[in-house]
Amino acid sequence: MDCLFCRIIAGEIPSSKVYEDENVYAFRDINPQAPVHVLVVPKAHIESADAVASNNSDAVKAVFEAIPKVAAECGLTNGYRVITNIGEDGCQSVKHIHFHVLGGKKLPENMG
Ligand code: 5GP
Ligand code: ZN
Repeated sequence: MDCLFCRIIAGEIPSSKVYEDENVYAFRDINPQAPVHVLVVPKAHIESADAVASNNSDAVKAVFEAIPKVAAECGLTNGYRVITNIGEDGCQSVKHIHFHVLGGKKLPENMG
């Protein structure tokens, strides 16, 4: 298994877990870009949002059902941002679909 996030989900690499259910794992980003920066990932390996299709979109549905729970767990009562980077131009560094949940302060408007 050469996927970093599959190894984190399997517990082979330690992580700071925020939330877990049957289909989803959420953990704190090792290099936080905001006071709260959590990565929410499906346990199923999907390369990116560009690889989502009818045969694997249940995993994404499960992620979006988990995100409000992650936000509540992290005290994000005043809003937050969800980002997924895709491929080279999107600056995706880990090729296992993941959703950045950022918050804990007023985030900049500029999205690049
Ligand atoms: P991407 O750039 O692919 O959208 O996001 C990958 C994220 O994974 C980055 O924000 C990076 O800080 C985070 N990351 C990379 N390696 C690790 C790790 O070993 N543990 C944790 N918790 N986060 C990681
Ligand atoms: Zn993976």
